Amino acid sequence: MQRKAYAVLAALMFGSTLAALYLSWTALGRQFDTYAYDFFFRLEPPAAWTPDSIILAIDEETLTKYGGLTGMRTALADGLEIIESARPAAIAVDLILPDASPSDGPLEAAFNNTPALILSCDLLPNGSGWEDPIARFRRHAVAVGEVHADLDKFDAISRDLPLEKVAGHDRRWALALDTFAAVKHVRITESPDDLLVGSTRIPSSDAGGRIMRIRYAPIAIPRTSIAELDRHPELAKGFAGKVVFAGVTAQTVSDRWMTPYSNSVAMPGIEFHANAYETIARRMFLVDAPLTGIALVCFALAAATGFAFFLGNGWQTNVAAAMIIAVSQTIPALEFAHGTVWPWMPGTLTALLATAVAAAWRHLLVRRQLLVSENEKTRYQRSMQFAIHELRTPLTAIQGSSELISRYGGMPEAKRKEMADLINAESKRLARMIETFLSVEKLSAGEMEMKRERFGLAGVVGRCAERAKPLADAKDIAVDLETLPSVEITGDRELMEYAVYNLLTNAIKYSPGGTRVRVFGEDDRNVVRLSVQDQGIGMDKKEVRRIFEKFYRTKRAEQTGEAGTGIGLSIVEQIIQQHGGTIDVESEPGKGSRFTLVMKRT
Ligand code: ADP
Repeated sequence: MQRKAYAVLAALMFGSTLAALYLSWTALGRQFDTYAYDFFFRLEPPAAWTPDSIILAIDEETLTKYGGLTGMRTALADGLEIIESARPAAIAVDLILPDASPSDGPLEAAFNNTPALILSCDLLPNGSGWEDPIARFRRHAVAVGEVHADLDKFDAISRDLPLEKVAGHDRRWALALDTFAAVKHVRITESPDDLLVGSTRIPSSDAGGRIMRIRYAPIAIPRTSIAELDRHPELAKGFAGKVVFAGVTAQTVSDRWMTPYSNSVAMPGIEFHANAYETIARRMFLVDAPLTGIALVCFALAAATGFAFFLGNGWQTNVAAAMIIAVSQTIPALEFAHGTVWPWMPGTLTALLATAVAAAWRHLLVRRQLLVSENEKTRYQRSMQFAIHELRTPLTAIQGSSELISRYGGMPEAKRKEMADLINAESKRLARMIETFLSVEKLSAGEMEMKRERFGLAGVVGRCAERAKPLADAKDIAVDLETLPSVEITGDRELMEYAVYNLLTNAIKYSPGGTRVRVFGEDDRNVVRLSVQDQGIGMDKKEVRRIFEKFYRTKRAEQTGEAGTGIGLSIVEQIIQQHGGTIDVESEPGKGSRFTLVMKRT
């Protein structure tokens, strides 16, 4: 039963892992993972650094100064002109500029003076192609990068960026990537697993859509507005050697996106591109943990949980389970610190589910064991009452006879002797019964001392048959002693005799009159067999399985009216086991039974 229960536990742990993995990959599970990602993101920010990028901002003040949106191009032209002398490394412009306007001349002139200019394009609203800057601007640009925002479809938080995007048949790189390539003066090359820009390898697989997680800088990217520059041209120094991201930051105009850091203040799109650039330039890539690794860890967590419950059910198990849950929480945190995004859900769910399931399993197992022992207890009590009742019979006979002797002084001598013999016989029977009860307790407690002597099996059988003869004669049952091997075995002769005598008297007790009981043996090189076969009431398979339990009697046996306590066979089994042997029982209701002792030759 125990082994089966443990197999069930193992299967439950396996099932818990599969269920946890499945649930983690549902939309809801992934959402929880995303929140956990944001949590770790805030928990373990990278050390602050001086950004390579700077934002040239078209803010509210600038828009007011230049007369609103229509003045944006003039503002940009002015801003670029002011910072030109500081010689920035590159300028990325996050304005689409798809149409001509009267104020394009100064902007084109400013673009012309910019050595590394990267312009932007966006997806057409129907997604069929790209909305590009007009040719007049475009020819001054070293690249045109796309700035389409891909936000999380559940919470619209911007966590990652596709480094490439295809519209129609036209593939474009992200603005930040194009800018990085322009700064390095290299081309972007690709492999199935990553993109290569000079010596910078960006892990972003083709199959995964070339997604790159953005490691937002813990501090804001420096920002100077064009209006500020107009007022304080000396601020242009701050642009020296920097990668400039020029775009709108005015709340009224720009798209603003939430990031894992945002509380309620959204980040302007231009800062998002600058952050993507910083992620690439600093090589702060966050890669996904391999699926097989995650699955293996989950199976290991469930196996550990199962093992903790397999070993015990005390507080140690609870502590172990709590530690396993703690480990499931630590892995994602540690991995995140090393740049690997280890999803939080699979391990957490596995550890929790496995613990809950194993605890339920333990609870049911303990309850079942309790039930079994309760049953055993009531059966034991019932049998005890029965056994006490059995003891009363000889006691009553002794009491009655002794009373008669003392009351009738003039009792004839013959009668007196008969009574005394009866008292003697009944008190012997009583002593034997008490002896039996005590020995069963001693045997099961392992307190019975076993002698080690050599004796012949045939001798033991002969003596038993002799003792059982009166019983057999009374029922007109013939006991046939057939061929018995003349071997000697080592053990306790007295106990062995008790065992054989029990089998023999059972065969006689549970057989109708006029039948035969055969006793035969066999010497089979390594083992010696001794069988007692009757033509009695027999038993079905279910009964056979229980007859070695203490106090168990079959209904059929009880109906025969034969006295019995149901403990004889439990003693026999213990005796044989202590002699290193076993008992085989073959039986069929109404046909008879065969009990075979199988002893090792010693
Ligand atoms: P008891 O004979 O005192 O009841 P045992 O422990 O010797 O106790 O036997 C347990 C039960 O096994 C018996 O009550 C009877 O139901 C069954 N049994 C034992 N031997 C035989 C047999 N030879 N034929 C049929 N039933 C038997």
